[in-house]
Amino acid sequence: MDVCGNCNVDRRSFLATSAATITGITAIGIAGFGSAAHAASLTQADRDAMTPDDVISLLLAGNDRFAAGNLQPRDFLAEQRTSAGGQHPAAVALTCIDSRAPLEVICDLGIGDAFNARVAGNAVNDDILGSIEFACAAAGAKLVMVMGHTACGAVKGAIDDVELGNLTGLLAKIRPAISETTYSGKRTASNPEFVDAVARTHVAMAVKEIRERSQVLRDLETHGKIKIVGSMYDLETAKVTLI
Ligand SMILES: [Zn+2]
Repeated sequence: MDVCGNCNVDRRSFLATSAATITGITAIGIAGFGSAAHAASLTQADRDAMTPDDVISLLLAGNDRFAAGNLQPRDFLAEQRTSAGGQHPAAVALTCIDSRAPLEVICDLGIGDAFNARVAGNAVNDDILGSIEFACAAAGAKLVMVMGHTACGAVKGAIDDVELGNLTGLLAKIRPAISETTYSGKRTASNPEFVDAVARTHVAMAVKEIRERSQVLRDLETHGKIKIVGSMYDLETAKVTLI
């Protein structure tokens, strides 16, 4: 049931409900949609009402639902239909290609909620930077989230100096994080603690690199239009944490 005054769309509540709570607009009844509300993609008005911090909270709230086995019911075909004419994603993520770390699933996202640039080891390159610039400066995303994950094979490959075709050049982008990682234990790919420490360093370096190499994104962040943050996804606990 639509209880939202002038709403002519059934805004689903992954973002709407949480955004309403965060931005203090619960009075118009968005939070009252309940499970029947997950029938439309994110609108421009919904997205534009969010701050970058709102979007961070929404992603983390979605991950909480995922980790608790409590995903929002949603109608993907309704989201497909309502987004076909235009998209207004709230975030752009840079994530690894790892099959166990799909942002859309682990943060309980629907169609149209977020851009997701995936490359082994979530390494920055020119095309990724261009994609993130498009997402924020042209399409209006409020958050850039670099997400690494535990037990990352690309990080292990970089530590082991793996050489394989075009993968060699990709792993070279991760390698600087190894020497930047302070760790007194066994510094090998067989030590999960070291692998994860390098992955965290690599995420932090990617965030820094995005700021350094993109004046477009740097300016947007300086003016408070976006935030650029790093995070790690733990394959064991199913939890995303900011770093
Ligand atoms: Zn990975």
